[in-house]
Amino acid sequence: MSYLVLARKYRPPTFKEVVGQEHVTVPLKNALKSGKIAHAYLFTGTRGVGKTTVARILAKALNCESSDKPVVEPCNKCTSCVQIAQGSSMDVLEIDGASYTSVDNIREIRDTLTYRPARGRYRIYIIDEVHMLSTAAFNALLKMLEEPPPHVIFIFATTEPHRIPKTVLSRVQRYDFKTIPIELIADALKKIVKKEKLDASEDVIWLVARKGQGSLRDAISYMDQVVAAGHTKDLKKAALILGAFDRNDLLDMVEAVIRRDARAALDVFYRLRTQSYDVRQFLWELLDIFRNLVVAKLTERPEDHVIGTKEEVERIRSLVKGCSIEELKELYRQANTSTSEVLYSLDPLLSLEMLVVRLASRQPAVALEELFERLNRIREKLSSAQPAGPMLPVSGTERSLFDAPQPEAEPAPKASTKGGGDVCGELLRHLKAVHPDVYSFVENLKWDRAGDRGPLVVYAPKEMLGLLRRSADVLNRAAEKVAGAGARVEIREEAEAPAQAQPKRSREGRPEKDQLVRQALDIFDADIVDIKRRKR
Ligand SMILES: [Zn+2]
Repeated sequence: MSYLVLARKYRPPTFKEVVGQEHVTVPLKNALKSGKIAHAYLFTGTRGVGKTTVARILAKALNCESSDKPVVEPCNKCTSCVQIAQGSSMDVLEIDGASYTSVDNIREIRDTLTYRPARGRYRIYIIDEVHMLSTAAFNALLKMLEEPPPHVIFIFATTEPHRIPKTVLSRVQRYDFKTIPIELIADALKKIVKKEKLDASEDVIWLVARKGQGSLRDAISYMDQVVAAGHTKDLKKAALILGAFDRNDLLDMVEAVIRRDARAALDVFYRLRTQSYDVRQFLWELLDIFRNLVVAKLTERPEDHVIGTKEEVERIRSLVKGCSIEELKELYRQANTSTSEVLYSLDPLLSLEMLVVRLASRQPAVALEELFERLNRIREKLSSAQPAGPMLPVSGTERSLFDAPQPEAEPAPKASTKGGGDVCGELLRHLKAVHPDVYSFVENLKWDRAGDRGPLVVYAPKEMLGLLRRSADVLNRAAEKVAGAGARVEIREEAEAPAQAQPKRSREGRPEKDQLVRQALDIFDADIVDIKRRKR
């Protein structure tokens, strides 16, 4: 017996078995039931979501011989149904718009329109990738759509509906297919695995489902590959042949990110990088995990909402224990807003690496409850310190309130010489504008410059040195921009950094000795960060 690939074997034969497109199949079935059949349909949606499959089911239902009129579900047994399934029906013509684009091709169709169907009720033309037709071909098509013979039905399918002329769109009944949710794909795969009596582990099924990225057909083809290689029970090997990411590694990386352990996060990232170069898939899965974390934190029963294996649900459940919802939402937001920056950068893999570092070295978020608590404490202190007098002016203090417990000034360099410090600050501002990804991981490092003409020096922890050196070009270009031709950035290990320079406030007198200042510091639980002279 020859082996029929799963993708062909499990093409759904009825509307009922089409996965995730009920918003299309239910109205179509209703139309078949009531006999309100349009003469032209347009199916839109990304590849592999079931457009041509539904077109064939519709063709079978229209011509099914199990009844003397169109049926709601094809019988798949009569000669007409069998011929359509085999692609040998004289009444159903499948045309590939991509290779059949010219006006002459469409005229050939026009010349056949008057023929009566060979055995069925309708002659049905299924034109796939219809957006590929030339303008002249569309015009010829339009003429046919204006006055179609009653026995002719067109079914168009396209991944790019915006490329179809409005005049054509206004003459078709349009159905937009959705990408299929990952859990539905996983369910469909589980059914196939069961029917085929395959021994597949759950994590491999989910790996395949995710790799399909919303296309059931693609997912089933990937399943075919895994079955052929005999890796249905081995997640690591299955991931390797599909060029997919090992979900457990991704979860390890996210765990390190949550711990703010940039070094560990990078270690796992480098492991993931050997599994696949698919940056888009990486981001997609990363967002998926962050989404799971947010939902798990918010709901009483994470198992109802977290999409993934039972083991993943358990892991997610334990991961969110030590995190606030603000923190998790912020992780999702940062990753989400960085996707286009990563995908469209000159080196997406490098940008992705930076994103991981940025996420893992983020500042702690302050929970809203904690902020309210702090505000309440301040209110109490204010009322006890100033029982009858006017309110203290508070302008300028909000910043330290909301940044506590780690108040942080603007990205000013922690430099030892004033001239060098200015240049370092300028370099950081320049980087922020032209290379936000590089900026994000050098902004908090110690910067220095030996004298007015020496190289700019950045001190970094050992594990970040490799990353920085790979960005040396960017840093040097920025240095030349702010310090003139030939200027360079030297990358040194943190341990070599000279002792911290004296804080600025020593040069500005001792404001904390002032009674009013002390009172203000006490009331606001504040710290002196910077001193600015008031302009008069
Ligand atoms: Zn039939």
